[in-house]
Amino acid sequence: MFIDFYNNTDPLTARGLYQRQDTRHLVQNPPAPVLTQSAFDALYDLDFEHDQHPFYARQGSVRALDTIRFSITTHRGCHGECNFCAIAVHQGQTVSWRSAPSILKEARDLSARPDFKGIIHDVGGPTANMYGYECKKKLKKGCCQDKRCLFPEICPQMPVDHNPQTRLLKKLAALPGIKKVFVASGIRYDLILADKAGGAPYLQQLVDRHVSGQLKIAPEHMEDHVLALMGKPANAQLVEFKQRFDHLSARADKRQFLTYYFIAAHPGCNLADMRKLGGFVRRRLKINPEQVQIFTPTPSTFATLMYYTGRDPFTGQKVYVEKATRSKIAQKEALLKKTRMGSKKPGRG
Ligand code: SF4
Ligand code: SF4
Repeated sequence: MFIDFYNNTDPLTARGLYQRQDTRHLVQNPPAPVLTQSAFDALYDLDFEHDQHPFYARQGSVRALDTIRFSITTHRGCHGECNFCAIAVHQGQTVSWRSAPSILKEARDLSARPDFKGIIHDVGGPTANMYGYECKKKLKKGCCQDKRCLFPEICPQMPVDHNPQTRLLKKLAALPGIKKVFVASGIRYDLILADKAGGAPYLQQLVDRHVSGQLKIAPEHMEDHVLALMGKPANAQLVEFKQRFDHLSARADKRQFLTYYFIAAHPGCNLADMRKLGGFVRRRLKINPEQVQIFTPTPSTFATLMYYTGRDPFTGQKVYVEKATRSKIAQKEALLKKTRMGSKKPGRG
């Protein structure tokens, strides 16, 4: 049933679904079409208040606004389809993006606000470096149901190209009144490594001008069998990316580092896997991970399907699933404790 649901989430191919429920029927309508660029631009051209509703203002300030008040959304959707993430269902697997003039106009409008301090805190979307390219086949006929765009490897039909975002960042940084433009949304390092022409200049531009001390990446794990169940790229790419990032940061004489997100107790992951992850993190990354999250089953993901059924939905094989709260916490602690004992402070090199 879940696979039927999932295969009916692309607006170009989805059909409405219904399920009989006692004497009634539950109906799921097909998703709305992906926004065209002109519709997307028009949406962001509306006269938003950029502030919290007065009703909430009377009860105090909404802290979450601080991080987004001066951030710019450049695109929606994600090609990633990581198994634990519902973005592919919420926003779609097709990336749509705003035009550069629309984004530059928003930046100029932000810079004219009296509370603007010269800093744009984020330019991005679900994954920062998916701006400005999409598979032609997907745009015409919808997503493939028999393969994925980025897993186990990046599909040759995906025209990965970081140049549109590099150009955009340069233009934003050159606007009057803007001192800094940061990329705080997470990036997919496998895409940077795969983009032979535009990947290196993009990373150079990020390192030189757009990292606010930390660049966020989300390897989530390091054990390849867990990564495979997560739908994430294999471990080797992270080490290569870290070497490049550290090298460029050192060359630019900048003290900045990568922030890594990890998940404990994902279906397929046991305590021994987390201990191995801890060892890897300590030896190879030389960091103290702060962003370790215990897997939370959320609606609309393949990982939740694995959690519930105890099976890999693609092969039917049994999957180890940790369900006891204490053992889940132990998985998280296995990474944090061991790393605390042997860690250096994060930094260049
Ligand atoms: S975790 Fe990130 S890359 Fe993966 S599907 Fe979600 S937004 Fe995309
Ligand atoms: S052809 Fe490749 S890139 Fe295009 S939708 Fe299918 S899997 Fe994704």
